[in-house]
Amino acid sequence: MSIADNLKQVLAELPQGVQLVAVSKFHPNEAIEEAYQAGQRIFGESKVQEMTAKYESLPKDIEWHFIGHLQTNKIKYMIPYVAMIHGIDSYKLLAEVNKQAVKAGRTVNCLLQIHVAQEETKFGFSPKECKEMLNAGEWKELTHVRICGLMGMASNTNCIEQINREFCSLNRLFNEIKETWFTHSDTFCELSMGMSYDYHEAIAAGSTLVRVGSKIFGERNY
Ligand SMILES: *Cc1c(COP(=O)(O)O)cnc(C)c1O
Repeated sequence: MSIADNLKQVLAELPQGVQLVAVSKFHPNEAIEEAYQAGQRIFGESKVQEMTAKYESLPKDIEWHFIGHLQTNKIKYMIPYVAMIHGIDSYKLLAEVNKQAVKAGRTVNCLLQIHVAQEETKFGFSPKECKEMLNAGEWKELTHVRICGLMGMASNTNCIEQINREFCSLNRLFNEIKETWFTHSDTFCELSMGMSYDYHEAIAAGSTLVRVGSKIFGERNY
């Protein structure tokens, strides 16, 4: 199966209202171009340097989503062009994105990353930390970031029940946060969850953005 075929297969499974972030990290420009030719416009990357090099050499109507772990000193390189940053996991990072966005004169879309998986290694706010950050209210002064929703990853497990539980808990948190802090905002509407091996479960649990890599581009060598 070609990249274009894989892409079409994934797209055919997405209900209305669910968008695909094609995760192209560690794959060359040629792979992205093939998906682009097949109509895909949203791509996800996890390293700022790699994403910026791809941004510079590929068509300018691509929307680049940053899905990796953020390093403060690298934020400024993607601010001029990034369409959405999925991995905000501290107030400090949100404030830093805002600072760089002010300098660049643009408003940057961000998702708050929530830790719902059982593994220790995953990044993200705990639900409690996230609510504390929102309660503190300082984020309201950040004029150049737009909090568009939440992002999360389920545990890397074969246990479907556990994956479902984690995605459902993220969906409940999304609704609670929307009702509490974003009642009058149209912009808090994205729930980024689901990867190659669990996007069906994520969609059933209310995902609006699935981040699918290997199912489209094949296995990564790294
Ligand atoms: C790599 C990555 C993906 C895509 O993973 P696949 O299993 O290849 O679909 C999705 N989300 C994040 C945060 C990633 O780092």
